[in-house]
Amino acid sequence: MTAQRPVIAFYDERMLDHAPDLDAPFLPGRLDRRVRDMLATIPAQWRYPECPGRLQAIYNLLQQQLVAGVDFESGMAATREQLARVHTSTYLEHIFSLRGKNAWLDMDTTAVSSGSVDAAEVAAGTAIAAVEAVLEGRASSAFALVRPPGHHAESVRARGFCLFNNIAVAAAHAQAALGCQRVLIIDWDVHHGNGTQEIFHADENVLFFDIHRAAPFYPGSGALEDTGVGLGEGSTVNVPLPGGSGDTAILKAFKEILVPAADYFRPDLVLVSAGFDAHRFDLAMNVSHDGFAALTAIVQELADHHCSGRLAMVLEGGYNLESLSQGVRTVLQVLAGKNADEPQECGMAEVEAAIKFHRSAFVLE
Ligand SMILES: [Zn+2]
Repeated sequence: MTAQRPVIAFYDERMLDHAPDLDAPFLPGRLDRRVRDMLATIPAQWRYPECPGRLQAIYNLLQQQLVAGVDFESGMAATREQLARVHTSTYLEHIFSLRGKNAWLDMDTTAVSSGSVDAAEVAAGTAIAAVEAVLEGRASSAFALVRPPGHHAESVRARGFCLFNNIAVAAAHAQAALGCQRVLIIDWDVHHGNGTQEIFHADENVLFFDIHRAAPFYPGSGALEDTGVGLGEGSTVNVPLPGGSGDTAILKAFKEILVPAADYFRPDLVLVSAGFDAHRFDLAMNVSHDGFAALTAIVQELADHHCSGRLAMVLEGGYNLESLSQGVRTVLQVLAGKNADEPQECGMAEVEAAIKFHRSAFVLE
C-alpha cells in the first residue's frame, strides 16, 4: 500500500431528475414520429438505458463500502458562458428552450424530460468543480459522478444520451479560467468520443486519446487515420479495437501509445472520460475491474510525472449497474493510493482453487 492520496468524488442529486420516459407525451413533430416509428421496429420494449439508477447504484455502493481517503462534495450548475466555450449559442438556445419539457433531441434516441436541462447544467458544472478542486490543490485527484454523460455531444448536436459535453466544458474552463495551457483528455469509454473529438479536432492545445470499439459499433467514428486537422493535426489519437478486446490489448495501447504521446505533449492537466461499458458485463469488450485499476495507475503516473498529479475523471457510460458501480469504486481505490494488481485471466484463481478442492476425489490414498 502506497501513501494515501486525498480524492474528492462529486455527486449531486439534481442529476437524477434527467429521466426520459417514453410513455409520457413528447413534443409532437417530425422527430417524434420518426423515432417512434424506428422504436416500433424493435421487437422488445425499449427503455431509456441511461437512467437515474446508474448514479444511484454508484452512490449506494460507495456509501456501503467506503473507500478510505475519498470525500464527497456536491456539484454545481455550469453557467451559459462556461457552456458556450464549446457549444454554439444557437445550440444552447435550443436546449434551454426545452427546459421543463419532454422531447427528442436526435434520431439516435437522445431525449430530455422535464428536469433534464437543469441536470445537464449540473453535470457540466460538476465536471468543472472536479477540475477546480484539483487545480486548487484541495485534492490529489477528483471524480465527477455525472449524468447525462457528455462525450457524444458535439458543438451543435446532442447525441448518444449526451446533451452538453461535460469533459470538453471542463477542459475549456481549465484553459480559459484556471491557467492551464495543454490539456490531455483520455477517453476509455467503449464508444468513441465523437463529440470531444469534433470540439477539439483543430486544437493543438488539447491532446485527445480515445480507445474504443471500432466502427460500425456506435457512433461509427474514431478511425485510426483520424488524427486531427489544421493546427490540431497530430493531437487526436484514436485506437479502434475489435469487440471482445480485453485488458492485455488496452494496457498495451496505454503503455505504448498513450504514454509516449503524453510525454511528447507534456500536459498541464489530465482528464479522463471514464466510461465503464468496456467492462465484460456490458458485452462490448472484455475489460476487468483489475484492468480498470491498471489503466488508472498508468494515468495517475502520467499526471504525477507531468503535472503534479493533477487528474480529474468524468463519468461517461456503463449500463450494467454491478460493473458500473464496482468499476467506479475500483478506480477510486487506486486514485486514493491502493496499488493496482496486474490483471489476470478471468477465472484462473478459481480454477486453481477448484483443482485443489477436487484433486483428492481422483487420487487413491
Ligand atoms: Zn459508452
